[in-house]
Amino acid sequence: MNDLQKRTWAEISLDNIRHNYRAIRASLPAGCRFLGVVKADAYGHGALTVSRLLQEEGADYLAVSCLDEALELRQGGVTMPILILGHTPPEYTGTLIAMGITQTVTCLAKAVEYSAEAAKLGRDLKIHIKLDTGMSRLGFLCAGGYFDEGVQNVIDSCRLPGLIPEGVYTHFAVSDEPGADCRDYTLGQFRLFMDMIRAVKERGGIEFAIRHCANSGAVANYPEMALDMVRPGLLLYGYGDGGKLGLRPCMRLVTTVSTIKFYEPGTAVSYGRRFVTQRRTRMGVLAIGYADGLPRAAGNQCSFAAGDGFAPQRGSICMDMCMVDLTERPEVDVGSQVELFGPKCSIYQLSDAACTIPYELLCAVSKRVPRVYF
Ligand SMILES: *Cc1c(COP(=O)(O)O)cnc(C)c1O
Repeated sequence: MNDLQKRTWAEISLDNIRHNYRAIRASLPAGCRFLGVVKADAYGHGALTVSRLLQEEGADYLAVSCLDEALELRQGGVTMPILILGHTPPEYTGTLIAMGITQTVTCLAKAVEYSAEAAKLGRDLKIHIKLDTGMSRLGFLCAGGYFDEGVQNVIDSCRLPGLIPEGVYTHFAVSDEPGADCRDYTLGQFRLFMDMIRAVKERGGIEFAIRHCANSGAVANYPEMALDMVRPGLLLYGYGDGGKLGLRPCMRLVTTVSTIKFYEPGTAVSYGRRFVTQRRTRMGVLAIGYADGLPRAAGNQCSFAAGDGFAPQRGSICMDMCMVDLTERPEVDVGSQVELFGPKCSIYQLSDAACTIPYELLCAVSKRVPRVYF
């Protein structure tokens, strides 16, 4: 890293990503495939770098949310199978086929459109059927009174020319949440998923080579749901319920102290004067703000690791800077490093302060923040 970059950066441990991949893999039943979710720039860790690592490690599949993310990987030399979890406009069917990208199909109407485009080209598009078993997001309706219609729509979709139905999947809403109610809900989603797969086979003679449903929550809490492939994102990056598996966080967000000044009691700090000093205060200005991904909502309610301890953040977080009280941290000087989250400073402290979840903080680390790999 050159001196110009010594403002704010994200340290990413490829060793820890590799460790997490191997630890998750080792926990899976024999023959179970591993799909690494690398959408949203691999949760801020760098999609191309993470994907190349997973490819080298022998992972089976990658997933992204949209065509642009898939193309970035293909253009970067990633040759392994890639599944697009979200919608791709049917007019890009030719690109999907040419680039060897697998598309999720979420309803009969879209299956018809992809099929028509593939037929025009005289080629085949690989698809995974997505079932909506209770997330109420994308997927064929199949709960309750929609079951029979859902089965028929999946069968009709799979029989269309130009489509190769390789896989079927669903997504859990509360597999990462504790409590009997969440457990029942997740078990109910799983049961419906399996019932749908069975009915599609019995009524349509269609069998899927890859059935998958386990996101990070299910990999950690419901190992019996691994089926033919697991689909973790967060766990790979070392967050979530990864403790049991011995997973390690992979990103450390670091900034530096730009300047330090002493303020008398009664001095208002930052926009909105939302903090006023109560004592003579040694205040540091950090070179990180919400444009770097530090959530403004956490203003005045979090602490960062500095020197031998922690420094409370004071006043509103600005676009490019924020202030911390260094009165108790005389060892911290101009140029000192401050950890926003990482081994010393839990990401949950910051996500709780901002009323959000680690996912959002990881994705929010902006492109202005250089990633430093080691
Ligand atoms: C994002 C996503 C995942 C990964 O979720 P994690 O909780 O990070 O494991 C898996 N499946 C689908 C469909 C997703 O959208």
